[in-house]
Amino acid sequence: MFEAIQTIRQNCRRCFTCVRDCPVKAVKIVDGQASVVSDRCIACGNCTMVCSQNAKTYASGLERTEEILGANKPAAALLAPSFPAEFPDLEPERIAGALKYAGFRYVVEVAAGADLVSEAYREFLASHRAGPWIASSCPAVIEYVRKYQPGLTERLIPVVSPMIATALAVRAAYPGEMNCVFIGPCIAKKLEARDHSCPTVIDEVITFKEMKALLSQKNIAVLQAEPRPFDPPMAGMGRAFPLSGGLLKSARLEGDLLDPTVVTISGQQEVTDVLGAAARGEIEPFLIDPLMCQGCHDGPGMSKRGDRHNRKDFVRTYVNDRRRHPAATGREGSEPLVEPPHSRYNLNREFIPDDHRLQEPTEQEIRAILARTNKFLPGDELNCKACGYDTCRTKAVAVHHGLAEEAMCLPFMIDQAERVCNELQIPWQEIRQVHRHLINTEKLASMGQLAAGVAHELNNPLGTILLYTNLLQRKITDRTDLSHDLNLLVEEAKRCKKIVGGLLDFARQNRVRMEPVNVGELLRHILATSFQASRLEEKGVVLLCEDQTPDAAADIDRDQMTQVLVNLVKNAVEAMEGTGGQVRVKAEELADNGRVHISVADQGCGIPVEDRERVFQPFFTTKSIGKGVGLGLPICYGIVKMHRGSIWFDSIVGSGTTFHIELPKTQAMAGRSMFS
Ligand code: ADP
Repeated sequence: MFEAIQTIRQNCRRCFTCVRDCPVKAVKIVDGQASVVSDRCIACGNCTMVCSQNAKTYASGLERTEEILGANKPAAALLAPSFPAEFPDLEPERIAGALKYAGFRYVVEVAAGADLVSEAYREFLASHRAGPWIASSCPAVIEYVRKYQPGLTERLIPVVSPMIATALAVRAAYPGEMNCVFIGPCIAKKLEARDHSCPTVIDEVITFKEMKALLSQKNIAVLQAEPRPFDPPMAGMGRAFPLSGGLLKSARLEGDLLDPTVVTISGQQEVTDVLGAAARGEIEPFLIDPLMCQGCHDGPGMSKRGDRHNRKDFVRTYVNDRRRHPAATGREGSEPLVEPPHSRYNLNREFIPDDHRLQEPTEQEIRAILARTNKFLPGDELNCKACGYDTCRTKAVAVHHGLAEEAMCLPFMIDQAERVCNELQIPWQEIRQVHRHLINTEKLASMGQLAAGVAHELNNPLGTILLYTNLLQRKITDRTDLSHDLNLLVEEAKRCKKIVGGLLDFARQNRVRMEPVNVGELLRHILATSFQASRLEEKGVVLLCEDQTPDAAADIDRDQMTQVLVNLVKNAVEAMEGTGGQVRVKAEELADNGRVHISVADQGCGIPVEDRERVFQPFFTTKSIGKGVGLGLPICYGIVKMHRGSIWFDSIVGSGTTFHIELPKTQAMAGRSMFS
């Protein structure tokens, strides 16, 4: 099947403009991608003009034309009467000169064939008084009638188009073998040239755009071409054919503006409306003269779009010029062509219906399709046209026939997208939390490496300072004036050593020694030995232990885990400074993931939101100098990580904080650095 219109798939962007502007809905959408269904297409070429992505193109006739020009047979260029709209600033004979230079032996105006067709129409209409009759010069209209108003096919005037008439006349005027190339603004002509129900006398069709490409390939500048005369048969009023109403003018059939028996229509909307009305018997004119474009000067094969009315004027000016100067054509402009007489060749043709109307599915089937896009009641059918179809029902019919898909419904897709977004909202928040956690972990890991490096370097000189100050202390026992200073030196050096030790703990350059430990027992032991009940009582703090892990044992470094829990309880107690309250230490077994969960919950001040990202960072403290160093939680973090566990907290300002630790019940990774 000849594909007059083709789709460049990679350019198609789901805008459905081609669907919207296709008068016969010959566009099929699959996975959002549009393609033209050739046997439904009438080749009006509208989609090639409206597609902003240049995803629609038409079959090229350039290659075949090149072949024709290279062949031994003479070639005739048949130039459509709309050419003045394409070349407004050029002397027409220059165009003939350029085409002859390109290799065409003859250049003939198709307006000559239009004259023949006009005469044939006059004759036909004189003897067929019972209308309505439809002029059959526009190939897109013919395709539209055959495929979508097949009942009107028999009302198409059974006369060939000006293109075919010209080719017949040219072939009769120049006997011998010849190739004819039609050059015009129309894509549907490419279909007509291949239509076997009319004389196949056209060897190729190219558009004006293609003609320009052909000349430029051959380095021919039309402006500089030597003017050459057009070849007979010469044209007359047929030059007005491309204008809406031009046929009536050249066939001298035009009636009064108010004459309802002759209807001149142009443009896809008017054509489909009026022919639809005629098919339904709502109007009964004698003659309908339709052009699918707003006149041929508006055709899709014109290279310039520009102002339509200007282009129309260029055609009009050319018609009038040649009427005023008939010498240029060799005969009176309005005089019908008689030489060679059309009786010498047959201008009749037949039209065969080719019904492509979509069968209406059952109401039940339509409702089922509508329901798939949440349209259950008539009020749900928005008829917004975003999909390219006028109504939700016509779109449902197209879906039924595989031409459209549900996902073309914009309101439905927006609803879906909103729902999915809402559904994603919770996991999305979780993802953000995990992401934040990962960034934090990464930050802590690099801090750990830095801290480990610094601590390691300071550890040895600090040891030396401590050693020598101890020696000095012993040596100069008689210098009581210096002992205070020396003591201070030792104390501060010890403090530094402690800090460095803490940093090493945080970075876990120290090793852990794992052993199976009963978690509940360990908790009870720590709470009983590390905190003096009397001191806690003074502060109004009650320490509670809730062990729900009677048998749970985990691989734990007893000393280091003690350090963690002591730290957490110490912080909890300090968070309730001045207010008192409960500190609840709880251990439980998590059956589903084989881990032990330990929590330390207080009723203290809570951790402000702005501090939450920083509490595990070394040296972050909100406590006064001497009281807090900011290494407690980083050390806890390091130790827990070494146990392949996790540590986190939740906190409500003014209500309290709970630190959570999760440890695996078995641990085989003892002795590894947390940053290794
Ligand atoms: P330090 O106790 O020396 O300040 P930490 O690393 O143990 O160092 O704690 C860092 C900071 O985290 C504390 O200064 C405090 O602001 C905050 N913090 C820790 N635990 C708690 C808690 N249970 N309640 C409120 N804030 C806490």
